[in-house]
Parts: sequence; structure tokens; C-alpha cells
Amino acid sequence: MARLVLKFGGTSVANIDRIRNAARHVKRELDAGHEVAVIVSAMAGVTNSLVDYCRQASNDYDSREYDAVVASGEQVTSGLMAIVLQDMGYKARSWQGWQIPLNTNDVHGAARIQAIDGARLIEAMSGGEVAVVAGFQGIAPGWRIATLGRGGSDTSAVAVAAAIKADRCDIYTDVDGVYTTDPRIVPKARRLEKVAFEEMLEMASLGAKVLQVRSVELAMQYKVRTFVRSSFDDPDKVGVDARGNPPGTLICDEDEIVEAEVVTGIAFSKDEAQISLRRVADKPGVAAAVFGSLAAENINVDMIIQITSPDGSTTDITFTVPAIDHDRAIKVLEQTRGEIGHFGIESSTDVVKVSVIGMGMRSHAGVAAEAFRALASKGINIRAITTSEIKISVLIDAAYTELAVRTLHSAYGLDKH
Ligand code: ASP
Ligand code: MG
Repeated sequence: MARLVLKFGGTSVANIDRIRNAARHVKRELDAGHEVAVIVSAMAGVTNSLVDYCRQASNDYDSREYDAVVASGEQVTSGLMAIVLQDMGYKARSWQGWQIPLNTNDVHGAARIQAIDGARLIEAMSGGEVAVVAGFQGIAPGWRIATLGRGGSDTSAVAVAAAIKADRCDIYTDVDGVYTTDPRIVPKARRLEKVAFEEMLEMASLGAKVLQVRSVELAMQYKVRTFVRSSFDDPDKVGVDARGNPPGTLICDEDEIVEAEVVTGIAFSKDEAQISLRRVADKPGVAAAVFGSLAAENINVDMIIQITSPDGSTTDITFTVPAIDHDRAIKVLEQTRGEIGHFGIESSTDVVKVSVIGMGMRSHAGVAAEAFRALASKGINIRAITTSEIKISVLIDAAYTELAVRTLHSAYGLDKH
């Protein structure tokens, strides 16, 4: 017997038929003798409508009430899933965040989980009852409902799995795993059998949309073996292999990956904006003033390049910020002119960050050079670069997104044969 968490995303519970289909996956695990906790998202599209209602109600809504509204989507599906399971002859009970309790901080709309008491869930499960947990929500100080940020049910699932010491956390979604890149852009993209936590964290942070970033951080921290798998597989036809693994992509510890490739995947994100400061006085304290003022406004700066003019008197500073922060960033920068003197500001949101990710980069030279060569061969200009031990990111014109992703995908031998 194992203890399992099964999480179903919005498309997997989009209507009663789909909930019934998801419940058949639960049934299969119960019939095999496992204890099961189910985490559900809201039905597809529901959270978007709820967010929209808040916006229509006021353009300056109270984030506590926003949470009261948007958390309701998951409350509905948790009840419906429990009803469907009961109808199939199983014991099941729904759980809202406050009933567990799943405690969060008070950053309403994007709350972080602070603690989960797994005792009540474990008690229910050991009594043969399926615990159906409403994802995305918890209880903040002051007994207010809080939500975990869009896509937050993934995080609920991994956090609950850690709290109840589950053997596995299966994330059921509308794709059958994690791919080397977005298959809609590169039809030759391959499904990965395994991905290391660190790589998945980079892929999610750098634009792959399959899991909420925070869920991967938690999986890594608590070493939760997490599978991304399809809810549309026939529940009666999918089993586990000889090692006990279900179909899908396993996100796991690096040690479990025997033959790592140098590059595991290519991610891309269109949510970037490039800002260039022209002819800034080249003197100590300038970068501190520029980036300090952005940091004070909680604007995250990612890529940075500085190029000093030939005579050394001025410098150009180029960097990226999240596209949603673009307008605020420009305002803040205009204000620093008083402090550091006049400079020009140019910006563009028509850019994309393309990233090459792989643990194997730590031990292989020339991986970055290969990316630059491949992009150059297609005439794609690189506007900025950042690297870490396991990733290289380049900023390019958005018009070249598909070409760049395809080119890099084949340059690193990731194409399906
Ligand atoms: N229903 C929430 C959303 O759409 C949470 C989730 O599905 O993960 O963002
Ligand atoms: Mg999701």
C-alpha cells in the first residue's frame, strides 16, 4: 500500500463527465489498495470569470475579498468530486483550506504556505476515506481565506504531498508529460522520461507553463517524487511499470537520472521587457542608484549589460524587467535623473527570452558557444545574455521566437528521431 496524491487541473475537471473520468483514476488507485488524497483545481475558465467579476465590481478591489471570490471555484470542484466518488461507492469527503488547516501568510492573492497540519487528512485517509482537497486556497492570519497565486493548485498538491508524507504526487493535466520544449512550436519536441528538480525549476521559471514555479521549489525542498501525466489516458488501461512508475514525466532527484543529456530543454518567455539607458555618466554609484531605485519598488531585474563609450565618459546600461513592470520601471528611472544626471531611456516589450537548460552544462564546455553559433547561422541578433550553472538565456526580437527555439532544439540534438 502506498499513500498517493492525485491532482487534477482545470481541463481535467472541466465538466461532470471529466470529473467522473478523473474519479476513475482515483478508483484505480483505491482498488489497488492505496490511500488517496485528491487535489482539485476550479473547472476550466471558472477562475478567469471570477477574477473578471472582481475587476468589474471595482478597479481597486480589496485583495481579501478577491480571495473570498476566486477561492470559490475550487470549493465547487472539491464538493463535486466527493459526490461523484460517493456515487461510485467510495467514502470521500471534501476539505477546504481552513478545514485542514493549510496556513498561509497574509499576502492575499499570492499567499505563501506557512504550515500544513497533515494529521486530520491522514486520519480520514486511514479510515478508508478519500480526502478531496480544494487546491489554490488556505487560511491566512485573521481567519481570512487566501489564495496562492494563479496556477496555485499545483503548489497545494505538492505541499499536501509533503505534509502527509505521500509516496508520490501525480499531477494530472491535459498533456502527457514535460516536453523538451513546447510541442506547439516544435512538433519534434520529445516527452522527457525524467527531469531533475533543478532543471524543472529553471524550465518553469523561464517560461514552461506546465507547473507553477512554487510547486517545483517545494517538490525540490521536500523531495516529493512528482509525475506530470495525462488525465485523458484511459483510467483502466494505465498501470505502473516494473519500478512502480506511472506513465508521464517524473520530476525527481538528480541521482535518479542515470544518463543525463547535456541539454534537457528549451524554454521561452514573452513576458519580458528590455530597457536601455543611454549615455549615463560613467562614475561610481550610478548602477547602485539605478538598480537600487528599481529594487525599492520591488521590480525584479534579470539580464544586465553595460557598455562604456570609447572615451570612457558615458556608459549604456541595458537590462530586462518583467513586461508587467515596464511602465512602473520607466517612471522610477525618470526620477533617478535628478540624482545621477540626464540620460536617454529606450525600451521594448517586443522581445523574448529563450533559454537552454540542462544539468549537464556544469561539466561540459562550449554549450553557450553552440547556442550563439546556431543563432548567428540564422541571422538572429542577441540583445542580452545571462547564464547560470545550468542555463543560458538570450534575449532576442519576439519575431524570431519560433525560429530560435527550433534552431536551438535541433542544435542540441533534442529533435525526436
Ligand atoms: N484555479 C486556479 C487558477 O486558475 C488555480 C489552479 O488552477 O491551479 O489559477
Ligand atoms: Mg495549472
